[in-house]
Formats: sequence, C-alpha cells, structure tokens
Amino acid sequence: MKPPPAHWSILYRGPLSSCNYACGYCPFAKTRNTPAELRDDAERLARFAAWAGGRAEKLGILFTPWGEALGHRYYQQALAALSHTGNVRRVAIQTNLAHRLDWVADANPATLALWCTFHPTEVNRERFVRQCHRLDARGIRYSVGVVGVREALAELAPLRDRLRPAVYVWVNAYKRTPDYYTAGELARLTAFDPWFPLNNRRHASRGRACRTGHTVFSVDGAGDARRCHFVRDIIGNIYAPDFAARLQPRPCPAETCGCHIGYAHLEHLELEKVFGAGLLERIPSPA
Ligand code: SF4
Ligand code: SF4
Repeated sequence: MKPPPAHWSILYRGPLSSCNYACGYCPFAKTRNTPAELRDDAERLARFAAWAGGRAEKLGILFTPWGEALGHRYYQQALAALSHTGNVRRVAIQTNLAHRLDWVADANPATLALWCTFHPTEVNRERFVRQCHRLDARGIRYSVGVVGVREALAELAPLRDRLRPAVYVWVNAYKRTPDYYTAGELARLTAFDPWFPLNNRRHASRGRACRTGHTVFSVDGAGDARRCHFVRDIIGNIYAPDFAARLQPRPCPAETCGCHIGYAHLEHLELEKVFGAGLLERIPSPA
C-alpha cells in the first residue's frame, strides 16, 4: 500500500523588499523595487506556485515577505489560485492589510488565511479595522497583532473592542531592548494576550528537536531551501529532483529562537496543541 502523502509547511520569501509603510521598528531595509525587480519577483513567485501545485505532498504555505506583498496583483492572484489548489491545505501571508482586498472574493476561504499587523504610526485604527471587517464579510480567517513598542500599547484595548471576540490579537514582544517592559506592563500584556509570555523570551533551542529541515522549511526566490529563516545553511533546492530526500529530522543548531515562525516548530513547546491547523498563520484553535 502506498504511504499517505507527507505534510510539509513552507515559508516562502522571495526577493520583494519594498513596502508602502516606513515603520520605525522595521527590521528590514526600506527599499523601493524597480519595475524590473518586480517582474523578476513575479516570475520567481510563479515558478514557486507552479512547483507547489505539482507536488504530491499536502502543503501549508506562509508567505513572509521582506516588505509588503499584497499591493501587487501577482501576489493576490497567486494566493487566490493556491487557495484552490487541491494539495494546498493552507496558504497564508504576513501583511499590513493596507491594500485593496477585492481579490479575496476569488479565494477559497477554507484555505486562505492572513497574518495582519497593525502599525499605528502608519495607519489609523479605524481604517485598519475596516479592512478586518472586509475579511469578516468574506469569511476569511485572520489574526491581528502589533509590535509591542510602548507607544503602541495604548492601541491594544480599542483595537480589541472593534474586532470580533473570536479574532486572536497577539502582541509581538519588543525584545531588542533587554528588560523592556515594567512588571505592570508584563502583567497587562499577559492578561491581554495569553501567549505573550511565550513570545517575550528567546527559547533555548540548541540541540532541541525542531520540525524545520524535515517537515517545515523556508524557500527563497531561487528555490534554495533552508530549515528556517534563522539558519542560513542551504539544505537543498526545491527544483532539484532529489529535493525530498534532503529532508530529515535534525536538531536546532542555533542557541535560541525568538519568533513565532520559528519556535512554533520546536517540538517540546507543543504549540500544535494550541494553534492546531492555524499554526502557520498564528490563529489558535477554538477553545
Ligand atoms: S509594514 Fe512591515 S515591512 Fe513595511 S515598514 Fe512596517 S514593519 Fe517594515
Ligand atoms: S528552533 Fe528556531 S532557529 Fe532553531 S531550527 Fe527551529 S526555527 Fe530554526
């Protein structure tokens, strides 16, 4: 009897680097892409999407662009098309939700999901909330969050009030400054987001079992696969015929892991019990 198809989770990050916002805490270089760079990015995305649709494995795909991708028609179309592709169980993207959302009408709400970050210095709350309500109207699942710099914390409660109770609102802990939060802030943030303490530390990970490099991997625009965004070693190229043979269980080689897109796959944290099928897009399973 043939074994059932493997389940892979893929984090795709092509060369696109431009963004319509200019957040002060942005970890990525603020760039503008030329038309030629955008054409190149679109070609690489199309190649990746064709590869994904042709695999026998069941795929979950999270797009984690350097910049903002959903202002580009070719990303909108790729997400909508992948959401209808038979072997794709989930297609999700990190976005600032600034752009038109009419394209989601063409997507499959059972598989599309959005990881939406609210940037209060770049957009007013009501405009952001209206976009969330447009997703609600289309039945598209999403999580919402903020980068937890002090100036953003006052936005949390009013943002929460304007969203459906079922929408998870996360806070990405600001870890660049050690001991950034006061005890009072820690207590308030933990009451607001029960998973904040998990995000507010770097998890000791060296030697620990992590699903990346085996059933989870990241892919760049050339098809080069790495176990995750944080370990630079290339484990293979997805367009090579022997790629699947490159995947195997392997312990984490890094000292620590501090992002949801990484530590979500550390086996001992058992976060699949919290997030279930929403692990990639950071949507907890209903209680
Ligand atoms: S929206 Fe994201 S990518 Fe764009 S500037 Fe802000 S943090 Fe950077
Ligand atoms: S624990 Fe984090 S850094 Fe280590 S391999 Fe997994 S995702 Fe990468």
